[in-house]
Amino acid sequence: MLLQIEHITKCFDDRTAALTDVSFSVGQGEFVSVIGPSGAGKTTLLRILNGAISCDAGSILYQDEHFEAARGRRKRDMQKKTATIYQDFCLVENMSCLQNVLNACLPEMAALPASLGLFSRAQREEAADLLARVGLADKVDEPVKNLSGGQKQRVAIARALLRRPLLLLADEPVASLDPATGRQILELLRGIQQTEHLTVLMNSHNLALAREFSDRLIGLREGQVVFDGPVREATPEVIASIYGAAISE
Ligand code: ADP
Repeated sequence: MLLQIEHITKCFDDRTAALTDVSFSVGQGEFVSVIGPSGAGKTTLLRILNGAISCDAGSILYQDEHFEAARGRRKRDMQKKTATIYQDFCLVENMSCLQNVLNACLPEMAALPASLGLFSRAQREEAADLLARVGLADKVDEPVKNLSGGQKQRVAIARALLRRPLLLLADEPVASLDPATGRQILELLRGIQQTEHLTVLMNSHNLALAREFSDRLIGLREGQVVFDGPVREATPEVIASIYGAAISE
């Protein structure tokens, strides 16, 4: 298994129980979507998996190595196995597409070259290749602020891929986009996942798109896993049990 999550619990300071005894596994190359109503704990789960916050109890194993107990360099090595894309892209608007993609290299660089933006030729070539891979070969030097939302998410995907992650975490990646553009972004992600055997764990409140592009769904409700199975097993009754009421797709 690429990722094993065992009995994770997370309580915030105000005693809000965001996740309670969450367990599931993700195999290499799977496209898994976490679905559930607002407040179910989807974002908290992703933030724990990319190391932004820690869990209170439970285990996270990437390729059989414990993540939650790792410290310092080992924790950074494990964080390198993941990359995250976000609903609001998290790009530097005034910088070019190429510079934004290259920013993925900064955590691994020494302070001085990083502060001066001294990237190697190989890094620049790889970043340009990735921009071409996501369909932005003609936007390499364009400032991000001139791009459409869909194009910005493509830059964010290229930046994530430069980290060569084993696991791509996608937090509502198409929630800010119109439906047609959102579908194109998920087609791109699905294509990369299939050709490069990347593993994708996506949070989505768009059930129809999650169903269409995922191999498997995990249903969270009030911080607990109430469904984990292939898309075809997510019947209307299952969906109603996740969302607390029947919803129409
Ligand atoms: P979702 O992504 O499914 O909408 P979240 O993970 O954002 O759910 O939130 C799960 C629960 O944890 C909610 O009750 C939310 O209010 C609470 N929560 C999330 N982040 C924080 C925080 N930083 N401080 C306190 N409570 C939080």
